[in-house]
Amino acid sequence: MADHYDAVVIGSGAGGGTLARTLAISGKRILLLERGNFLPRELGNWQPFQVHTAGRYVSQDTWYDAAGSPFEPRVHYFVGGATKLYGAALGRLRPADFGEIVHMDGVSPAWPLGYEEFEPWYAKAEWLYQVRGLHGEDPSEGSWSEEYPWPPISHEPLIQQIADDLDRAGYFPFHVPRGIMLDEANPPTSLCIRCDTCDGYPCMVHARADADIIAVRPLLSRLNVTLLVNAEVTRLETDPRGRSVSKVIVRRGTAREEYSGDIVVLAAGAVNSAKVLLQSATDRHPAGLANGSGQVGRNLMCHNIADVVALGEKPNETVFSQTLGINAFYLAKESRRASYPAGHSRRWPLGSIQMLPRDGTDRAVGFRLTTEDLPRPGNRVTIDRDGHPHLAYAATNGGEAAILRRELETMLGHADLRVAADESLVAAGPPADAIADQAGTCRFGTDPATSVLDVNCKAHELDNLYVADASFLPSVGAVGPALTVMANAIRVGEHLAHRLR
Ligand SMILES: Cc1cc2nc3c(=O)[nH]c(=O)nc-3n(C[C@H](O)[C@H](O)[C@H](O)COP(=O)(O)OP(=O)(O)OC[C@H]3O[C@@H](n4cnc5c(N)ncnc54)[C@H](O)[C@@H]3O)c2cc1C
Repeated sequence: MADHYDAVVIGSGAGGGTLARTLAISGKRILLLERGNFLPRELGNWQPFQVHTAGRYVSQDTWYDAAGSPFEPRVHYFVGGATKLYGAALGRLRPADFGEIVHMDGVSPAWPLGYEEFEPWYAKAEWLYQVRGLHGEDPSEGSWSEEYPWPPISHEPLIQQIADDLDRAGYFPFHVPRGIMLDEANPPTSLCIRCDTCDGYPCMVHARADADIIAVRPLLSRLNVTLLVNAEVTRLETDPRGRSVSKVIVRRGTAREEYSGDIVVLAAGAVNSAKVLLQSATDRHPAGLANGSGQVGRNLMCHNIADVVALGEKPNETVFSQTLGINAFYLAKESRRASYPAGHSRRWPLGSIQMLPRDGTDRAVGFRLTTEDLPRPGNRVTIDRDGHPHLAYAATNGGEAAILRRELETMLGHADLRVAADESLVAAGPPADAIADQAGTCRFGTDPATSVLDVNCKAHELDNLYVADASFLPSVGAVGPALTVMANAIRVGEHLAHRLR
């Protein structure tokens, strides 16, 4: 008989790591299966050549685009998952994101629960991940039941000046909430040394609140939790009736191992969770596990992202620049304060603007523009006979992204900055970079015909299978998905603790 646990959790990233941490407190026996190993602490963590040119931390996977051409996806298989290299910008979705939103390219669907219902788990995730932020600056944000556990990371002088200029012009700049363990009031005790290699680099000093440091490592001393690294789940098998997952099949090196759990939680990331379900097809589930609706792998969303570099008059000596955000164009209609810049296009929701790390150029200041990508059934993950993922994907809302780009240019005029260069991360080619924010391939909902999971993220068709990573998202808004995935993992983890009681 396979080794049996109360719960088997597959994947140790934002979803799986956070859920395991939540459920572990119940004392139930948990097996956490992670395909990668711990990311090594080494000088290469902070070397641009190693990280970006040599791709030292990028997976060895080969995926294929819609035309069947291979590409190397920029995904990272480590304990902590994508959060080992994430920017730790941990913002909430806006309340409007939980409802239906009309976009230029179609409709962003409503969630099966509202912002107010979800809010308590946002607060829990912000406290667990030690987020530095300040509620009340950004008029588009929803209500909050708790203040942030830490004050926001302060702007350095040039960024503060840009913030002041934009504030005077009515753009409501805000401090971006960040999961970075920086204690500005007491520098000697601060883990963060303000190097600003957060986004896209591993943190050598472990000062970033990622799923490895915050969620998984604290579990290692617990007797009720077992972590297996280099353990890739290849398939889920069901009981003869096809109603529950009876075996989790794992590849560890050349060995094949089997485990089982009263509950199985899949959290391998949006593409890989779809892959595992599709690979688990049987006579009872011929299109793949939990896929009677045909929705598994569909509705892949990535965010429509563009990076813009602007030049100012003064040298940019900022070290830590990702502290400033603008949501003045997020919603089609004004939010609580009614004084967004007059005369600007408010017909469409355009997205969010945040600053990028300094790229080393003397007077350059970088901005990242994020526009919502819509769930399209045709944007989907399928697998071939050898189990390789194929991604058919075309970004949506390019028209909104173009308007946001024009609005940025106007806005920067108020801060004496002019645009010098653009780089779209959602170019026509394979989505190798765009998949950083991959989401939506197993969306939750109330209707089994149009969703894979129920409101608790249990597969409609199986009694003991849950999916708790970015796959569950029915829409992604224009905010990084990580905090929402973490909050949902706490929500599902609490549900499971109750169910297993
Ligand atoms: C460079 C970069 C910067 C980012 N910056 C931000 C940011 O600032 N803010 C933000 O909100 N979001 C950011 N993101 C996105 C964010 O990290 C993801 O949205 C989030 O981590 C998704 O959580 P997840 O649980 O779905 O997947 P992951 O966190 O990737 O976790 C999936 C885990 O499953 C493991 N796994 C995969 N397949 C298997 C298998 N078959 N068996 C066992 N284990 C498996 C993986 O190794 C991984 O550990 C960034 C992403 C990247 C790549």
